[in-house]
Amino acid sequence: MRRLPQSSLLMRAVIFSALAFAIGNLGIAETASANSGFKRFQEKIWPAAKKRGVSRATFDKAFKDVKFNPEVLKKDSHQPEFKWPASHYIALTVSDTRIEKGTEMLEKHKDVLDRIEKRFKVDRHVVLAIWGMETSFGQRLGTYSIVEATATLAYKGKSAKRRARFRSELLTALTILERGDTAAERMTGSWAGAMGHTQFMPDTYRRFAADFDGDGRRDIWDNIPDALASTANFLKKNGYVFGQTWGYEVKLPRGLRTTSGSRSLKAWSAKGVKRIGGKAFPRPGDKATLYMPSGRKGPAFLLVRNFRAIRRYNPANKYALAIGHLSDRMRGFPEFVQPWPDGFRPLAGEQRKELQTLLAKKGYDIGEIDGVLGSRTRRAVKAYQQTKGLKADGFATLAILKKLREDG
Ligand code: CA
Repeated sequence: MRRLPQSSLLMRAVIFSALAFAIGNLGIAETASANSGFKRFQEKIWPAAKKRGVSRATFDKAFKDVKFNPEVLKKDSHQPEFKWPASHYIALTVSDTRIEKGTEMLEKHKDVLDRIEKRFKVDRHVVLAIWGMETSFGQRLGTYSIVEATATLAYKGKSAKRRARFRSELLTALTILERGDTAAERMTGSWAGAMGHTQFMPDTYRRFAADFDGDGRRDIWDNIPDALASTANFLKKNGYVFGQTWGYEVKLPRGLRTTSGSRSLKAWSAKGVKRIGGKAFPRPGDKATLYMPSGRKGPAFLLVRNFRAIRRYNPANKYALAIGHLSDRMRGFPEFVQPWPDGFRPLAGEQRKELQTLLAKKGYDIGEIDGVLGSRTRRAVKAYQQTKGLKADGFATLAILKKLREDG
């Protein structure tokens, strides 16, 4: 669970570019002074930790190798370099690779998913979609010490509100260590304090983590059943209803005046909004809102209750749409029917490698030719677009690839 919509691998790649600048920014003297201030801050935290039942031994162990981390602050103040239109965001987060991997995971964890579905009444595909989006099914849990990340933000976060919030997250993280759910060195995650397989903040953990294998520990870092059950529990407690969809792709009638507000599916139908494929809505009384991620000319959706439950995980419509769509794709449902107005289609794996090869040949620094469109490749695309007098947005499209081929 994240406060910011920075969970996806796209954003991770974006953030990555800030890393290079992170360390150099604080001088040695400044770092030393920040470190001694940070030590004093730790001692100021202690009484509050003690009050929450944290022992001095746990406290000292938790802070043993923890330092003030300027990289965390740098990331916190970083403005994203690329803004993602919905077309690109959906194409890249709901990728074929992720759908395939998800399908594999459905099979691999079938037994535990059967039991989780039964206990929490939450659809397995949605749980897996969150796992896939957050950490690529456990491949990237994050390597920041949660105590270090939250303590740094509690100490030097950019506003009083933010410092207070992370102080509370830090105290909660310490109580998790006190309970022995995991060890300090295993409690890792993102720079913003999101932890484990499905990236719970400590406070989310406190409210929703579940011990599914019954060993007495709620281990979302090293125990997949616990992590997936915790996610299912989160969705359930946020109003998820089993057996219902997150929403419907719809076709809008010409000249639809009302596009905002919540009304029943029946009321939307009466205005001429139709389900793609023409089927009737199964529960016409359900309340729904209309969502057009890229305006009138792109795909449109009527969103129902389960969408709102997913949105609690990350308060961005694009994120929840990606989760909903990814879960449907893993179920074997097709892509959205209506095209995106910008005509965006993601490049296939081989095309991505070809694009990188051609850019490298032209002397652009794209890093490794691996078919992964990280921030380096995007910067190279952007530079190339500039030399061609094209809109420099850094997006690798088929048009750019064609241009490079002609140019080669
Ligand atoms: Ca457990």
